[in-house]
Amino acid sequence: MTEPSTAELEPVDEFRLRARRWLSDNLEPAPPNQHGETSKSEESWQRAKQLQRILYDGGFAGICFPKEYGGLGLTPEHQRVFSEESRAYEMPLALNIPTLTVCAPTILDKGTEEQKRTHLSAVLRGEELLVQFLSEPRGGSDLAGLTTRAERRGDSWVLNGAKIWSSGAYAADYGLCLARTDWSVPKHAGLTMFLVPVRAPGVTIQRITQVDGSREFCQEFFDDVVLPAEAVLGEVDGGWETTNRQLFHERSAVGGASPYSSGIQTHSGRDISGLIESARRTGQLDDPRVREDLGEARALNMVHDQLIGHITRGIAAGEFVPAAGSMVRLFSARNSWLQADMAVRIAGAAAATGCDADDAATGQAGQDYLMRQAWSLAGGSTEMALNQISERVLGMPREAAADRGLPFDQVERGR
Ligand SMILES: Cc1cc2nc3c(=O)[nH]c(=O)nc-3n(C[C@H](O)[C@H](O)[C@H](O)COP(=O)(O)OP(=O)(O)OC[C@H]3O[C@@H](n4cnc5c(N)ncnc54)[C@H](O)[C@@H]3O)c2cc1C
Repeated sequence: MTEPSTAELEPVDEFRLRARRWLSDNLEPAPPNQHGETSKSEESWQRAKQLQRILYDGGFAGICFPKEYGGLGLTPEHQRVFSEESRAYEMPLALNIPTLTVCAPTILDKGTEEQKRTHLSAVLRGEELLVQFLSEPRGGSDLAGLTTRAERRGDSWVLNGAKIWSSGAYAADYGLCLARTDWSVPKHAGLTMFLVPVRAPGVTIQRITQVDGSREFCQEFFDDVVLPAEAVLGEVDGGWETTNRQLFHERSAVGGASPYSSGIQTHSGRDISGLIESARRTGQLDDPRVREDLGEARALNMVHDQLIGHITRGIAAGEFVPAAGSMVRLFSARNSWLQADMAVRIAGAAAATGCDADDAATGQAGQDYLMRQAWSLAGGSTEMALNQISERVLGMPREAAADRGLPFDQVERGR
């Protein structure tokens, strides 16, 4: 994002004080486990939309989105202080990934004026939820090798295929769907991104039950879904460029570095109060091994927050390529793994049985442990992040690819 000139902006300290007063007058305290919730009910989506509307009406929605689309046009520093101040309050965190931090910024980067005015302001008012239709049943890492197709019919497009692992699709209004529009060119060159109404005729959504019991993931089937020409996001056959922006925003969001969130993001601004409380309850606060874990967790969180600032500033200043966001994404996944493991070590057997009824954090430790693998996959897997860093940040040789330069209809598939 291009940062606005700071001369005419509200000073960050004044903004912080104004936000602090407004938050205490207008929002409720954060409910327990606000930051660990993985499963959402219809009521919690409705509540998130309502909270987003309260932020919008109070003049605190879309801090880094431009004013002409309903945002405040302020800087990531304003966003950071608002996230800090709002941490203790009930916030519409469910809207952050992917609606506010991934899909909306992609529309901002690549959308037409009409798309930006329609979708961004609806998102910031809490009236529209977005979802990513990227991964397919055959695989997600080789994203450019996808086979969902869109064919021209007159002025319209007809979409056929299937997507999977779409977080929250059942509650969404529009999906950013990448489809193949030209099979006669190499794989990256024949893709187009579409804005697909999730409830259009021909779209079927099925929810998937995960190992922790949550049902946020969905699989979608597209059967002759008719889309108008205006549904194209970016250029026809230029979908890879749009996708690159989307993946950039996704890496930032999953790493906790996006400037577009409403409130603190999943993995940024972590604190270790839950780990300390668990150690106190189980009488282990003086145990040297536990103290070592707590110290390590605190240090990792500090490094994570510093890394976010360093990489974000470096990318904005052009000192790092956008792919450097993979470093935050990689660190964030490893930190999540380590802290999920620590929480289970401290909680002991109660993490598996969830039987310490007086301590919500104990049951949460078991849930987080089951979900920790997700953080090595979401936003592109850890292995793909390593590939990105080696090839695009360090300039090491690209990995071999049998399909490089081949027209996609000549690439062997499904063997
Ligand atoms: C919490 C969560 C939310 C998600 N939300 C969405 C969403 O909203 N929309 C969406 O479209 N998708 C979503 N995904 C899917 C996610 O993008 C994919 O899981 C991810 O891209 C990996 O794809 P895959 O699962 O198909 O694994 P595969 O691509 O099948 O890979 C399997 C394994 O092989 C490794 N591998 C593959 N290729 C290489 C290579 N070239 N070099 C080294 N290792 C390799 C991978 O790292 C991985 O470990 C989500 C996933 C998670 C966990």
